[in-house]
Amino acid sequence: MFAFQVSPLNRHGDIRHHDTFINRIWQSEQAHYLPVYRQTIATRSREETYIPHWQSYSELVDIFGSLEQKHLIYLGEKNSEHFFTYRLKDESSLDQLKAATPESAIELLGLRELFKSLPAEDSYLCNVAIAMEHWHNTHQFCGYCGSETYSNKAGFVRTCSNKSCQQEHFPRTDSAVICAITNNDKILLGRQTSWPEHRYSVIAGFVEPGETLEQAVAREGFEETGLRLKNINYFKSQPWPFPQSLMVGFTAETQDYDIQLRDKELENAKWFTRDDIRILTERQELELPSVFSISRELINQWLKCTSC
Ligand SMILES: [Zn+2]
Repeated sequence: MFAFQVSPLNRHGDIRHHDTFINRIWQSEQAHYLPVYRQTIATRSREETYIPHWQSYSELVDIFGSLEQKHLIYLGEKNSEHFFTYRLKDESSLDQLKAATPESAIELLGLRELFKSLPAEDSYLCNVAIAMEHWHNTHQFCGYCGSETYSNKAGFVRTCSNKSCQQEHFPRTDSAVICAITNNDKILLGRQTSWPEHRYSVIAGFVEPGETLEQAVAREGFEETGLRLKNINYFKSQPWPFPQSLMVGFTAETQDYDIQLRDKELENAKWFTRDDIRILTERQELELPSVFSISRELINQWLKCTSC
């Protein structure tokens, strides 16, 4: 199902940067830690699937000897239980985790491999954990002076260690637009060379500096397909932590039919009727995007709509 739409936690964004708040909870029995390493999550096998390998403070101390707050990221609270990410220092940390739980198969897995089997709540937590871990990994050094940065304020700030700089850096999100383009009873779907055979999806691209979201939709639509768009309307949005995007969904109409792959980002793009999609997917000659994605949600919404 359309993923990352549930927000089950109180992130406590107003108080998480206070040392007194974190100091009160981080060693308590209500603190739960999800070990992460370079966009992967520590998981353990259960029956025929993998689940996040949540650990208590004392379990992690038993494994690693001690915990440092600079490796923690506060995710939020639900029913007085507090959830953290614990950033593993290196791959050898995984071996230590494995050795501590010999009865379970511990693996580092990416979100794409995991979220098909995760309940919405775990999916949300893993999404935030992966996105934050990626930001920490890619902001080890200050963009102003080049000095090392360090994590603080519950993992939501990295501060430059250079005393004459001390610039604070905050988590980044890359804005991208994704749009279902229609012309009367047809929808435009395109594919990239690297995608699996028969996979088609709606048009997407990153927002450039100085653009509104609607301008980005019009530009991307024209660059990728040569179509001039009108009636560009907001649909829904979806965090997409691969690695750190926010996909902002739109619908748009065009009176043009002729497709020109102007920027060659797409290998092919075609018009499809609802019957085309039904028949081709049944024949396995068309593969739509994952049901977890906003691209599929856009297509499904159009398929269901009899008046658009
Ligand atoms: Zn600096």
